[in-house]
Amino acid sequence: MCNIDGRWPEPGQDLDVYGIWVAEVMLQQTQLQVALPYWRRWMQMQALPSLEAVAAAEEQHLLMLWQGLGYYVRARRLQQGARLLVGQAWPRSLEGWLALPGIGRSTAGSILSSAFDLPFAILDGNVKRVLARLIACPRPPARELQGLWRLSEQLLDPQRPRAFNQALMDLGASVCTPRNPRCGACPWQGQCAAYAAGDPAAYPVKDAPRELPFQVIGVGVVFNAEGQVLIDQRLNKGLLGGLWEFPGGKQEPGEAIEATIARELREELAIEVAVGDALIQVDHAYSHKRLRFEVHCCRWLSGEPQALACQQWRWVDPAQLGDYPFPAANARIIAALQEHLAAA
Ligand code: SF4
Repeated sequence: MCNIDGRWPEPGQDLDVYGIWVAEVMLQQTQLQVALPYWRRWMQMQALPSLEAVAAAEEQHLLMLWQGLGYYVRARRLQQGARLLVGQAWPRSLEGWLALPGIGRSTAGSILSSAFDLPFAILDGNVKRVLARLIACPRPPARELQGLWRLSEQLLDPQRPRAFNQALMDLGASVCTPRNPRCGACPWQGQCAAYAAGDPAAYPVKDAPRELPFQVIGVGVVFNAEGQVLIDQRLNKGLLGGLWEFPGGKQEPGEAIEATIARELREELAIEVAVGDALIQVDHAYSHKRLRFEVHCCRWLSGEPQALACQQWRWVDPAQLGDYPFPAANARIIAALQEHLAAA
């Protein structure tokens, strides 16, 4: 957590709160090396370099900058928070940050300790792993949160909370890694119960893995007579809210995929299509389910599209699809479509 000029900050010195807040939100559910290029792009002068800029931004601009990072609700919550904070002093209390959408206790503690060097504990995924190993916690961290929070608070150095939390996160990211922890390089080796037990990688204890539900989604890439394709914008809810996609939906038991696509397009957009050849099959795993997208090219037959189950729809030239934010699985569909058109 260096200053902009690369120097380690003085204890108690305030840092760029906005940049730290954006980084912390991006790091929820995302690893540092993945989030870093997104953060750099977001913070550029021509992007969203300030609280005022993100508060005033078009949602589309926001989602384009977030495209590929996943959990898009984080971007929209960041903007909601910015709109609440514009013209206000930065919160310096846990309650002040917890009042913002999408900010939990660990993110709030991390912002407060990183930005203001205030003594607030953290408990992100890396820290949970380190602490669970330190005490050889016999239960999965999710079922031992109170105890782990207490431990994080007890260990925190109240004189240097910024440096301590940073060191704890670094330890989890680079030494006490999920697999093959480098215990020989760890300053806590002498105190670590998991190390003493002889198999530190056996911690944190995990619940037996559960089978993720699987669902097939029929998707139509619908062409009109002008060679444009139909896309629609998802409603502003759920993980992918506000993103654009090719229309489609869940296959019913016993239903042929062509029938799924025709039915979904009728229900979602009130159009009739002729379902043609398969374009691509895309398997995509989320944390809570696995999806298989069966994508077919379709020809629009009749019906002016209506936004029955989406925010809006558009006919767009395939070359302009890059102007819209799509979920990761749709990005593979776009690549297959470009290949298909190039070969035609
Ligand atoms: S000794 Fe090993 S298992 Fe224990 S905290 Fe250090 S790196 Fe992690």
